[in-house]
Amino acid sequence: MTTRRQVLASGAAAMAALAWDQTNQEWLTAANASTIAKDAPGVVPVPPQIRDRLVTDAASLAAAADDFGHIVSRTPWAVFRAESTSDIATLIRWANKVGLSVAARGQAHAVLGEGQVEGGVIIDMNGLSTIHDIGEDYAVVDAGVKWSDLLVAAGERGLTPLVLTDYLELSIGGVLAVGGIGGNMNQVGMVVDNVDALTVVTGKGQINRNISPTRKSALFDASLGGLGQAAIITQAQVRLGPAPALVRIYELTYSNVADFAADQRTLVTDARFGYHEGQVVADGAGGWQFKIEVGAYYTPPTTPDDETLLAGLSPDLGTTTTDFPYAVWLGRVGFAEVQLRAAGLWDTPHPWSDLFLDDDSLEDYVTNVMLPLLSPAGIGAGLVLLYPFRTSLLERPLARVPDGEIAWAFDILRFPFDPSLTDTLLAENRELYEGAVSRDGTFYPVGALDTTPAEWEAHYGTVYSVLIDAKRRHDPNNILTPGQGINPT
Ligand SMILES: Cc1cc2nc3c(=O)[nH]c(=O)nc-3n(C[C@H](O)[C@H](O)[C@H](O)COP(=O)(O)OP(=O)(O)OC[C@H]3O[C@@H](n4cnc5c(N)ncnc54)[C@H](O)[C@@H]3O)c2cc1C
Repeated sequence: MTTRRQVLASGAAAMAALAWDQTNQEWLTAANASTIAKDAPGVVPVPPQIRDRLVTDAASLAAAADDFGHIVSRTPWAVFRAESTSDIATLIRWANKVGLSVAARGQAHAVLGEGQVEGGVIIDMNGLSTIHDIGEDYAVVDAGVKWSDLLVAAGERGLTPLVLTDYLELSIGGVLAVGGIGGNMNQVGMVVDNVDALTVVTGKGQINRNISPTRKSALFDASLGGLGQAAIITQAQVRLGPAPALVRIYELTYSNVADFAADQRTLVTDARFGYHEGQVVADGAGGWQFKIEVGAYYTPPTTPDDETLLAGLSPDLGTTTTDFPYAVWLGRVGFAEVQLRAAGLWDTPHPWSDLFLDDDSLEDYVTNVMLPLLSPAGIGAGLVLLYPFRTSLLERPLARVPDGEIAWAFDILRFPFDPSLTDTLLAENRELYEGAVSRDGTFYPVGALDTTPAEWEAHYGTVYSVLIDAKRRHDPNNILTPGQGINPT
């Protein structure tokens, strides 16, 4: 005898889901409707207006059970191909009724299942893909749009987002949910600091349009860097500014952390460069070098004054200077993606580590925690970012960084050649995290770090109430984004 579960697995489940059977935890479709009464207890009809967008075929579920990390896999009951804010509101209200968890999925570049939901519904944000308006200094854009698409549209008007992540094939909503760091952070703060309004759907399924620092500010604060806990972001008003034509990138290389850190502090304090990052690189002889990577944006006939820009800096291993068209520079990780895909390293496990370090203990951390744990095998074809930024530019409470005037972003973007290293590297991530936290550091919640609810609470510290109060008020059934593992009580 064929069970309903077998009917579902056979592919018949690709038919529209008519109702959810809470007792048997399965969909009622045209294929199996005859075996169960539509009005049986626990059978909750899917609202007709969203039925066609709820897909349950095996291929869609398998895709939604994976992400860029390729480390954890949780299979949902359905994927909801949202096309509008009101679609999402309808879906979430219905999910509350049937008791299914939901999470938004942008470009699925999370590394540890943060956007996955075991036995729930994944909201595929790709259908919210409209750039609604581009003004002189802002864009109003759907959360499913990729930053690369916004950059192109803004660029046609000579504009650019003020701060971007290094990689642009991420969704607007996915980056706003985590914070967004990049080379312009030392000029204007994180990506979330450059958003003036949002439209969100709360965990109760309520639509809140145009929330801002002055309108429903608690929900605004809880949404930016809020890891999808209180609400799903569906639209954002993002700040834009004039796009330069070119950028001159200077790479300054150091043999030791002391000189590197001293020059980084000079540069981050006087903020003389528009773009400012840095790296730790293997020297090929078993040791490490430190590289400052800074950039001056310009549009001819104006050109950067190299002598003034490099004054007072002392890289003992030399300086290189390269000019790039602005768009080419911003597309650099996209170009690397092509090579990594060709090398078969894009679809392998990526146990990334992402932390923020306290400035006072930077040299201690680098010497006693970071360098002993770093290995070329653990980085593979990836890289290690290490650069400071001014914390005074950061205004959104849930984007947690260390308290001092300067904090450091430290990210190991691992593309290991040997996937069997994954467990070892996850354990190293924990050591790196514990070493950072014991030195007043924090973590950036995009890394492969399995964090306990108590660690989350400690992470948020004095602003935990911003998250928890909003969660209790706007997602009282705790159905939103369980993959983050925050599990507030
Ligand atoms: C190659 C690569 C390069 C990266 N470079 C940078 C970088 O330079 N700077 C930086 O800051 N980060 C960087 N990241 C990390 C990246 O910003 C985050 O992983 C981001 O969340 C990914 O966006 P996404 O659209 O893929 O989100 P997803 O992976 O789809 O989602 C991530 C989390 O956000 C939630 N979410 C998604 N959309 C929404 C929404 N609309 N509303 C509420 N919650 C939502 C999801 O449920 C999930 O919990 C990089 C990641 C990769 C893989």
